Amino acid sequence: MNIKIHRGTHQIGGCVTEYEYDGWRLFVDYGEELPGGPKSGDLRIERLTHGDISKSALLITHYHGDHIGSITKLPVELPIYIGKVGREIQLVLSDHLKSVDGIHQEMVERLQHANTFEAGKEFSFGPFSMMPITVDHSAFDAYAFKIEAAGVSAFHTGDFRTHGFRSKKLPEVIQKYVGKVDYVVCEGTNVARPNATNKTERELQQQFEEHFKASKGNVVYLSSTNIDRLFSLYHAALRAKRVFLVDAYQKKIMDIVTQKDSLWGKSELYQYGEYEPKVLKYDKGEFWVADEFKAFLDKLGYVLIARATPRFDHLIERIPGEKLKYLSMWDGYVDGKSEAYNERLANSLGKRFVHIHTSGHSDMNSMREVFRLLQPKALIPIHTDAPEQFAKLFSDEWSVIRLNDGDSFSAL
Ligand SMILES: [Zn+2]
Ligand SMILES: [Zn+2]
Repeated sequence: MNIKIHRGTHQIGGCVTEYEYDGWRLFVDYGEELPGGPKSGDLRIERLTHGDISKSALLITHYHGDHIGSITKLPVELPIYIGKVGREIQLVLSDHLKSVDGIHQEMVERLQHANTFEAGKEFSFGPFSMMPITVDHSAFDAYAFKIEAAGVSAFHTGDFRTHGFRSKKLPEVIQKYVGKVDYVVCEGTNVARPNATNKTERELQQQFEEHFKASKGNVVYLSSTNIDRLFSLYHAALRAKRVFLVDAYQKKIMDIVTQKDSLWGKSELYQYGEYEPKVLKYDKGEFWVADEFKAFLDKLGYVLIARATPRFDHLIERIPGEKLKYLSMWDGYVDGKSEAYNERLANSLGKRFVHIHTSGHSDMNSMREVFRLLQPKALIPIHTDAPEQFAKLFSDEWSVIRLNDGDSFSAL
């Protein structure tokens, strides 16, 4: 089996990996490069973007833009495999965004024809067998894969972490469904960011709950597809006895998770409690705010899940009383010096806000524990801007194969 990293050896965004055996090719992820990182632009990859694709397929680890965002540029005949629930969430997101950005209409069409897989159920393509396992990440229904051909195996981690609500299951899942492998193709987002994982998702939830109890008016900005954070906020609001307010789009996303999640179905995190999220009503293109609604919010207090749009800004202006705003995503988006600066978000958020966030990616000590379970011959870092540091960190226990974009490695 040959492993080729087309992109991602020196940047976090836009990873594309190829597993090849006997002329068959399994590609993993085809996303966008991130703002602020290096740019290689549109890729030209033989037997993926052009040429004979009759023995090629694409696997998607999860719905984040840096993993799925560019699939509309690939030939329509290319078979695409994606997790069942992740596909549904991306369909709702793209349907919501298609009027703003035409690419999302293409995304909808593409995903309607995609093949789906489920955790713990092995499937195959040509000589490859793939075992998807669920990993904890800031995207729901995110996967790592064991990929095997002709007796050689690799574990492709995708994006994952060990400090989320569901992370504790990872060692057990690896032991049951993966076992030992020959190689690990591993994400290394946080190699150079040791502080990104300071807090666990559970600690964050406690922090939110305390704030919600102390403050009557709460407005939180977070990614609409960061499912675990969203449900965490919902339960924190419930415990603080505040009304949990979302728009119809956000509610639809939450409903998918409560109705369709079989694997984690028993988890209380993804179940509605005493009352369901309250859905904002529309009135002539704006959110409806009548006196009775204001009185209702004033009586109980609220947690509003907002996005940086004029409609939400206008709603917030019309709700009377003090409001505490929260940013529950990476603060680079509102840092004027960052290349990922989002002026819209910075304006909606204003100057005074509380930043409560933790990374969707693993810290390095936890990664070491995962490697010890997998016992690979070698590690191949991708999805990282610090491959040298990754190599330095892990070469005491494993050999680390350092590749450049476009390099191929013969995995025996
Ligand atoms: Zn991700
Ligand atoms: Zn990523």
